[in-house]
Amino acid sequence: MKSLSKRTEDIAPSMTVAIDTLAKQLKAEGKDIVSLGAGEPDLPTPDAIKQAGIAAITENKTRYVAPVGLQNVREAVCKKLKDENGLNYNASQIVLTSGAKHAVFNSFAALINPGDEVIIPAPYWVTYPELVRWFGGVPVFVKTTVENGFKMTVQDLKDAITPKTKVVVFNNPCNPSGAVYEPGEMEALAKVIVENDLYCVSDEIYEHFTYGTKFVSAASFPGMYERTIIINGFSKSHCMTGWRIGYNAAPEAIAKMISKVQSQAIHHPSTPAQYAALAAVENGNECVLKMRDLFKTRQDLLKGMLEESLGKKLRAPEGAFYLFIPVNELYGKHTPEGKAITGSIDLCTYLLESVGLAIVPGAAFGMDDCIRFSYAASDDTLKEAARRFDKGIKELK
Ligand code: PMP
Ligand code: GLU
Repeated sequence: MKSLSKRTEDIAPSMTVAIDTLAKQLKAEGKDIVSLGAGEPDLPTPDAIKQAGIAAITENKTRYVAPVGLQNVREAVCKKLKDENGLNYNASQIVLTSGAKHAVFNSFAALINPGDEVIIPAPYWVTYPELVRWFGGVPVFVKTTVENGFKMTVQDLKDAITPKTKVVVFNNPCNPSGAVYEPGEMEALAKVIVENDLYCVSDEIYEHFTYGTKFVSAASFPGMYERTIIINGFSKSHCMTGWRIGYNAAPEAIAKMISKVQSQAIHHPSTPAQYAALAAVENGNECVLKMRDLFKTRQDLLKGMLEESLGKKLRAPEGAFYLFIPVNELYGKHTPEGKAITGSIDLCTYLLESVGLAIVPGAAFGMDDCIRFSYAASDDTLKEAARRFDKGIKELK
């Protein structure tokens, strides 16, 4: 038989998704697994949103709609962007998508020509480089450090720009590091983007999960609105991971490109999910702000327990719901069976196999020194995860 698509063969599957799928499968098989793998709020979708989804189905609002999604939902998203982010969008600039991941896909589909360089600060969310490659682009990683709070500096950005640079990806607050750019830091980076006539893909899905630092959208800074594609959605803010609903907000010409792709690829995200998203926007942010406060107590709890195990202070992330911690002092040690731990993948594999703890290796995010724990889980789950981590690492020699 003839070979399959080389372009598709050459990209890696999502490791976060693979770990989440494996943990859920092992649990279903009756194995004793504690998972802080996937970034998925453990709370249910709020009732009013569920009811809106159910009502859409019972009222037969289950037909095809326009590729960009329902007008009233896009208008509601515009209102959200105005009220919360101070940004003026028209409904014609909003495209509803099947989750924020799909909005990432759309953004690169609209922007990338083969050979275009896309700057991605590392650590990065697993999906960006693979989709950039899938579209024939070249990911250019800017390595950040824990000492810098995992933030790209103006100099880092300037050093990475070449004549082939087309796009800069921001994920603010960042998955996995939890870094949140201060408005002043963002403004300085934005200036470089504008001066170099680049596009910006700004993934703002964790915007509400900030623990002190003020979140400002990348599109707010001078000259940025016309070159920024915002990615956002309801998966995290409204506990709607399985509904698969998110959106792009973009300059009109780009929104049109995205609509074209969407009309050929998926037509539009699920119609009942769009009605549920409308309820989410209309419901406001009370639920996510409560969740954020709860998550901060969970961050403190897990961080304290891991600090005790590792015997060192850890950084308190300013946003998202992950602890991304350096553990390279454990590399070079051996498991009780004598296998060497050479990096984050070995360590996470060992923890899953020996103590049934699922977490994500930093290698998945382009930073092998670290491992990622999601703290979107109950206190009891966090305590049990920390106990297992402690046991696992104490047994390394
Ligand atoms: N962006 C980031 C940074 C994420 O962590 C996630 C998590 N899934 C997504 C996008 C995708 O979200 P969704 O589930 O809405 O596709
Ligand atoms: N974004 C979440 C994570 O990083 C969910 C899995 C995924 O889509 O990558 O764990």
